[in-house]
Amino acid sequence: MEMPRVIPVCYYGNPAKLNTSWSNDNPGRRFFRCKKFGSGFGKPCRFFIWFDPPLTPHSQIVLLGLLKKVRTLEDARRTERKTWFLVLVFVTVLLF
Ligand SMILES: [Zn+2]
Repeated sequence: MEMPRVIPVCYYGNPAKLNTSWSNDNPGRRFFRCKKFGSGFGKPCRFFIWFDPPLTPHSQIVLLGLLKKVRTLEDARRTERKTWFLVLVFVTVLLF
């Protein structure tokens, strides 16, 4: 993975932070944004610049498919943990 050699500075002279987008339009695409982007006191800083080039349509489809699978597996695992916890509670109550 290519890493930035230069850290851009925002409109107020602060070093920008490298983030990763997880939106459907740009999954996994990295960008620089001011650490105080749109927040805080006084004037919000709107500095934003893409670091990675746009994804090809094929890469976008593949990444979104993988993300969907990961989320489905995470949900299934969460449900499984809840079930095992309830079984444990049930068995504990029966034994004591
Ligand atoms: Zn800024």
